[in-house]
Amino acid sequence: MNITIKQMIETSLIDWEGKIVSTLYLPLCNFMCPFCYNGELILRPDNFKNIPQKEIDSYLLERKDFIDGICMSGGEPTLYPDLPVYFKGIKDKGFLIKLDTNGTNPKLLKNLLDFGLVDYIALDIKSSLDFGNYSKAAGIIDKMMMEKVKNSIELIINSKIDYEFRTTVVPLLHSDETIMEIARYIAGAKKYVLQNFSPLEKTLDPSFQKIKPYSDEKIQNLSEKAKKYVPNCCWR
Ligand code: SF4
Repeated sequence: MNITIKQMIETSLIDWEGKIVSTLYLPLCNFMCPFCYNGELILRPDNFKNIPQKEIDSYLLERKDFIDGICMSGGEPTLYPDLPVYFKGIKDKGFLIKLDTNGTNPKLLKNLLDFGLVDYIALDIKSSLDFGNYSKAAGIIDKMMMEKVKNSIELIINSKIDYEFRTTVVPLLHSDETIMEIARYIAGAKKYVLQNFSPLEKTLDPSFQKIKPYSDEKIQNLSEKAKKYVPNCCWR
């Protein structure tokens, strides 16, 4: 199986609300979001050691009493065609699975949903769903990628699974209107989370480290406004 975990947060209380998980990171990504905090993992994965799967399995199994499951993050996990097989192995051990994704592989998402291989999906919506904005926020030039994100959004909204859509809000990329357009696009969704951009960590585009984030008050205010379309809108 071609899945190699490069980083692991052994115990996380913040990656899945209400759950205790081990968070696993896969390398590489098909987006190049300028504000990305995981540049090393997506550009220079060979700088990271491979974590042997046996180690991950024994960590989880030895703590089965208090670890609810895993959060699979990255990078972009859906780049890996073997993800369903990997998730089946985790499920067979009795753990829950949360997936973080940029939404560019609706075919694989459908497979995971159809076979009950995922319990929670967090899909990043990088900007409003028009290509000018999306290409800037995701660093892409292929319009089909954004169309695939739209397909994934539809798939998830129409599924029975628990999920959240989320946007990292960055001055320069997102105005109030951009956020309202996203909220309008996903109107009626179960949950929408606005995450305030933090330039404290190294960003993929170094110039983004100089950007002053919006104030928490502003993000809170935006989330209040977005409740018009998604009542369960929050911020962090
Ligand atoms: S923030 Fe963007 S570039 Fe970074 S891992 Fe997520 S989707 Fe990929």
